[in-house]
Amino acid sequence: MSQVLALKYRPSNFEKLIGQDAIVTTLSSALSQNRLSHAYLFSGLRGSGKTSTARIFAKALVCDEGPTKNPCEVCPNCIMANENRHIDIIEMDAASSRKIDDIRELIEKTRYKPTTARFKVFIIDEVHMLTREAFNALLKTLEEPPEFIKFILATTDPMKLPATILSRTQHFRFKQISRGDTVKHLEHILNLEGIKYEREALEIIARAGNGSLRDTLTLLDQAIIFSKNSLTPSLAASMLGLLDPEQVKEIFACIMEGDRKRALEFLKELEHYECGVVIDEMTAYLKDRYFEQNDPKFTTRRCEWFFRVLSEAKNLLYLNPENSFVLALVFFKMMEVLNIDKIDDLIASLESEKTEFAEPKKDPIAQIAADIKSSHVQHDESGKIKFKTLVEKLTDRNMELGECFEKNVEFVEFKNNELHLNSHAMNGDRKIIREGYGIIRQFTWDIFGLQTKLAVNHTGKEKEEQERAEAEAKEAERKAEAEKKRADEMIEKDKKQELLNTDFVQKAINLFGDKKDAVSDITEN
Ligand SMILES: [Zn+2]
Repeated sequence: MSQVLALKYRPSNFEKLIGQDAIVTTLSSALSQNRLSHAYLFSGLRGSGKTSTARIFAKALVCDEGPTKNPCEVCPNCIMANENRHIDIIEMDAASSRKIDDIRELIEKTRYKPTTARFKVFIIDEVHMLTREAFNALLKTLEEPPEFIKFILATTDPMKLPATILSRTQHFRFKQISRGDTVKHLEHILNLEGIKYEREALEIIARAGNGSLRDTLTLLDQAIIFSKNSLTPSLAASMLGLLDPEQVKEIFACIMEGDRKRALEFLKELEHYECGVVIDEMTAYLKDRYFEQNDPKFTTRRCEWFFRVLSEAKNLLYLNPENSFVLALVFFKMMEVLNIDKIDDLIASLESEKTEFAEPKKDPIAQIAADIKSSHVQHDESGKIKFKTLVEKLTDRNMELGECFEKNVEFVEFKNNELHLNSHAMNGDRKIIREGYGIIRQFTWDIFGLQTKLAVNHTGKEKEEQERAEAEAKEAERKAEAEKKRADEMIEKDKKQELLNTDFVQKAINLFGDKKDAVSDITEN
């Protein structure tokens, strides 16, 4: 390898720029439509591609075919620009030339027309470093530059620029290049260079590069030499003074097992590492496990607590760089975190004891029955306590729902992440519970954990149906009875009519006329 990678693979056109798609799109269309500003400001982290973009943009402006988003690469202007020796592209580093005289010299140059190209392009790097006088001197030229002048200002710290400069430039904010994009780029380069690598090694190098492509490529240069053309994670880690990823894995396994003896051995082994580095490596490992979500040991709660311990340890290091002691605290505090689950259970069992004390003595036989029952469901005690909390929280949120829930729903058991409940709610109560189901489920997750499934046995529903069936049967019976009564009445009436129709009675009616009622009375008896 004769040339360092950062130079060899410096992007020479917009297509090869890594991780700044939005900026490339905007600049390309500005070039295609010839809608050019006279001053640009590129801001962003170091190594995010500001200077590379400025150079590509300058070339696009001076190319014989330009302004164009695709410089021809063959005209004298392109060739000189690519070799960094174009007479009309003037680069200045404001970190070293920050005084008013430097700017005056630059302004002087803006008076003369470009020598070979249509534009004279000034690239001022680290522009925030200029003195106030220098800024003031630059301001006038920035305001009304001759038509053939273009400024590209670059800075890592745009907040330090005077508002007057910001308002006279078109501002492009460069993003930090993502880890994924960086690793992809490293893979691309190593494939071209024909160097063997493991992807995890590139992840480690990219992480150490901290979002700066230039720094990452410099590290890659070193790693290639260090690993003799075959890049493995442990070699990358060792070159960077980091822990071997396998070692970090073992540390976490040791913490999860609560193996204090092994932890003390690790503390000895890690003595020659910077504590801050160990903490960073552990944090990175934790983050990876959390996002992978395939190790049940790394629950959200544990990850949060571990992360707290690691972050606090970093603060401790600022207070007192007592490396091995801080690291010991990290290991043993993390082991304590694992006890939190157990402590939770302990608190729950203490609470249940407390309630047992508070309850008045029942009659002895009932007490024995209760004891037998409780010995069967002992493992459900913490579930029961949590269920109580659930009822309280529901009542807090919605009195009607909470009371209805308490009245109708009882705890059966909680195991294998399933909360079994019996509900004997009926009619209106059932409706209230059904409407509050969203809240009930949410609180269940809060209290019993996110994986909890609700299994509700609706005895109320059965009872309701049974009652409905009974009521229907009763109604049918009532109807049948009414029917029978009506039929009996009809028969009775027919009998009466029959009697009235007999000759003797007809004669009597004819005789007595309107005294018919009396006759009816006689016939009825
Ligand atoms: Zn050209």
